[in-house]
Amino acid sequence: MILLDGKKTSNDIKDEITAEVSKMKANGEKVPHLAAVIVGSDGASLTYVNSKVRACERVGFESTLVQLPNTVSEVELLDKIEELNQNDAIDGFIVQLPLPKQIDDQKILMAIHPDKDVDGFHPANFGKMALDMSTFIPATPFGILELLERYDVDTKGKHTVVIGRSHIVGRPMSILMGRKGWPGNSTVTLTHSHTKNITQITSQADIIISALGVPDFLKAEMVKDDAVIIDVGITRVPDDQAAKGYVIKGDVDFENVSKKASYITPVPGGVGPMTIAMLLKNTLLARERHRAK
Ligand code: NAP
Repeated sequence: MILLDGKKTSNDIKDEITAEVSKMKANGEKVPHLAAVIVGSDGASLTYVNSKVRACERVGFESTLVQLPNTVSEVELLDKIEELNQNDAIDGFIVQLPLPKQIDDQKILMAIHPDKDVDGFHPANFGKMALDMSTFIPATPFGILELLERYDVDTKGKHTVVIGRSHIVGRPMSILMGRKGWPGNSTVTLTHSHTKNITQITSQADIIISALGVPDFLKAEMVKDDAVIIDVGITRVPDDQAAKGYVIKGDVDFENVSKKASYITPVPGGVGPMTIAMLLKNTLLARERHRAK
């Protein structure tokens, strides 16, 4: 079994980006600038946003954190987004989800200018991705592709089963694995909560990408020998013994599934760090596009 080490790979990517930024600085060029908008003070969301800001510092990007209260209105948030769309100093920005219930997520994502949409959630970018056009690929699926590529995992003609059909992970992943090229050229089955006999489907899979958010959902008996296992799940499970009062669990029963897998991602240290590295890559791309205008 080979561990798909997202922590190490993401550090390699960050080193590569740092080298590019150093060249920009040496040439007197403007470095990439990412802004992150966070609404409210949800612990997990703050952790994610802070790690994105720290990652910017690590590679030499500029970053701006916009913190808004939980009570912010939809109009106020839309105004802030328009301000970021117009701000020439900022190459790309993200709005951390989830948003409070008075705010319509779709309206917010639609308001982000597609050229600054480094999360790749805008329909214009999602459509381009589905049509094999150059665009921002959502960071988590992009990170999974990068891991498969860097570990030279064969995907051509393989049966890939994706569990979960969210707009940010499962759905784009199913499109990307079925695209022409590599990683891709897979025969893809997309499963969700209405899928019947899921064990019958997963046990035929060469590659399983699990993104549902149920700890230890994928058991050894659901997996065939030598399958490639990508665990996207991140769930905080309360644990009195842990210093933080919780532990992070993936969707995969790692202890038992890893005995059968050919390749597997750990949680933590697998897909999570790759997501942040690919957000930086998208910001680099946004800066190139911005300069080309
Ligand atoms: P989500 O919006 O929470 O949706 C979960 C998906 O799982 C839905 O499509 C749901 O089906 C499906 N599902 C639920 N129970 C199922 C079952 N028993 N069998 C098959 N499918 C089932 O998904 P998400 O936002 O993609 O998040 C999934 C997990 O990934 C979470 O743990 C999240 O924290 C994690 N995540 C990690 C990263 C990272 O960087 N590593 C990034 C994003 C998300 P229906 O559509 O029918 O409801």
